[in-house]
Amino acid sequence: EQPAESHAFQAEVARLLHLMVHSVYSNRDIFLRELISNAADACEKLRWLAVSDPALNADGAPLEIVIEADPDGRRLTVSDNGVGMTRQELVDNLGTIARSGTRAFLEQANAAKDGAAGQDGASKDGGSKDGSRLIGQFGVGFYSAFMVAARVVVTSRRAGSDEAWRWTSDGQGTFDVAPAELADAPVRGTRIVLELTEDAKDYADEATVERVVKTYSAHVPVPIRFAKAGEAASRELTDGSALWAKAKSEVTKEEYAEFYGNVSGQWDEPALTIHYRAEGRTEYSVLLFVPSMKPFDLFDPARKGRVKLYVRRIFISDEVEILPAWARFVRGVIDSEDLPLNLSRELLQSNPLLETIRKGVTGRILSELGKLATSDTEAYLRIWEAFGPVIKEGLYEDPDRRDELFKIIRFKSTKSGDGWRSLADYVADLRENQTRIHYVLADSPERAAASPHLEGFRARDVEVLLLTDPVDAFWVRTALGYDGKPFQSVTQGAADLDAIPLAEGAPKPDAAAAGAAEVAAVVAFVKETLGDRVADVRASTRLAESPACLVAPDFGPDKEFEKLMSRSQGR
Ligand code: ADP
Ligand code: MG
Repeated sequence: EQPAESHAFQAEVARLLHLMVHSVYSNRDIFLRELISNAADACEKLRWLAVSDPALNADGAPLEIVIEADPDGRRLTVSDNGVGMTRQELVDNLGTIARSGTRAFLEQANAAKDGAAGQDGASKDGGSKDGSRLIGQFGVGFYSAFMVAARVVVTSRRAGSDEAWRWTSDGQGTFDVAPAELADAPVRGTRIVLELTEDAKDYADEATVERVVKTYSAHVPVPIRFAKAGEAASRELTDGSALWAKAKSEVTKEEYAEFYGNVSGQWDEPALTIHYRAEGRTEYSVLLFVPSMKPFDLFDPARKGRVKLYVRRIFISDEVEILPAWARFVRGVIDSEDLPLNLSRELLQSNPLLETIRKGVTGRILSELGKLATSDTEAYLRIWEAFGPVIKEGLYEDPDRRDELFKIIRFKSTKSGDGWRSLADYVADLRENQTRIHYVLADSPERAAASPHLEGFRARDVEVLLLTDPVDAFWVRTALGYDGKPFQSVTQGAADLDAIPLAEGAPKPDAAAAGAAEVAAVVAFVKETLGDRVADVRASTRLAESPACLVAPDFGPDKEFEKLMSRSQGR
């Protein structure tokens, strides 16, 4: 027999395991959802691979997940007959952190720890409190097994391979990998044995397992069976039917929430659920969610979505970009009846059917968001506050949908106070003779509101949009306008403002009060003094309190835009 080879975990894993083991978080149930979700992924992977290589599941055994409880031995086993792992896959997948969510989790936990240490300097236990709070919000995958297990033994046999391997660890910094007897291994797939800690021994109780599975994994698309150790009989806990294929009227809010947890890997409540079936030229089912919390990878440069694509209930990929990048926060499943099953990801990506689905689903997301904005403004604004800056990317990347997007975009403005304004609100409140939508670009609402350029607008009670997201500088220059009113920066143009009457009680601007000759003399003096450094000097009624300000030429780049560009190039 070959001796076990010992490996050290990647440093990040070691840190994660430390957090797990020292976790004081009370909801340890989450480990089971994570293991079940991996087992289901493995089954779905096999199902897909077997489409082109039927030999891989030649045994014909139905794909399933079996949970076996052994209260006397204080053990819980999760098995699947999915794709399994090779020796190398065991080392790579269970020894390093692959997914960005887990990495981001660690960064947050570290930040929380540094923050705490910085404040009281006495945070003894490496931020584990914050770590465990975060674990409660985000699934962190396989390693959560160490919240309940003193030792984890993974035995796996890759589909089509005649070798089996055993991975063992106590979560203390190293793991061992050794060959396993075939007789001792699953025919295909993975068996994970958790040797439960004393205080987690309840997880070997049938009632506990059933409760946790039904709460968190009731609708994973692979059936889950339960067995007692030593007994041949097993019973079905869940039937693996696809929730998205059911009629909306048959699905409860709790079922949606549970399913959302499984597809998103998050623990928040969905803020919006979109469930329908498209019929007609192409047929597909859609079950999508808008999270209420920002996913960790929202601002990753890759800007990847995570919507899962199925073809006739077979999971294909979550890396096919079905939705536009500005909708990358949307989670869930799209199941097509018509796409071919055996296409590579690249070919799928360029399949015209996928384009039809993209159009249909994107339009539906926009209309559902629009509906929510009127039916439940508060709920909509929570979505807006989480994802507004991302949605606005669509204004310049997706010009065909700009008009639709304008309906759901919300703004801070000089009149919004604590609330938000829509473009429709803005246009409804235009002042006499006002023909444009005025905005100011700045990096914070405070800075925007403090701009002297706003004085003349205030004096006329003209609303100004405060655009403070980096993305604003980009779309606002390419958008032609809304409802026939062009967008105009407060640092541009002058003539337009004079036509708008002063608000009641506003002080008359000095330039208007002074005689024309006096004004001309001041302008001539300033012009001569500044010389070539300015293109022009002119009297203006745009200021009320400040004596002078710099403006950009009408058709040149905006001042703040120039600043932003030089900032992003400097990076
Ligand atoms: P994630 O599921 O997000 O990738 P996990 O930490 O849950 O992260 O799992 C890490 C990896 O380990 C998975 O991506 C998969 O490659 C592998 N893995 C875990 N459990 C199984 C299993 N039961 N069968 C096959 N592969 C598995
Ligand atoms: Mg996982």
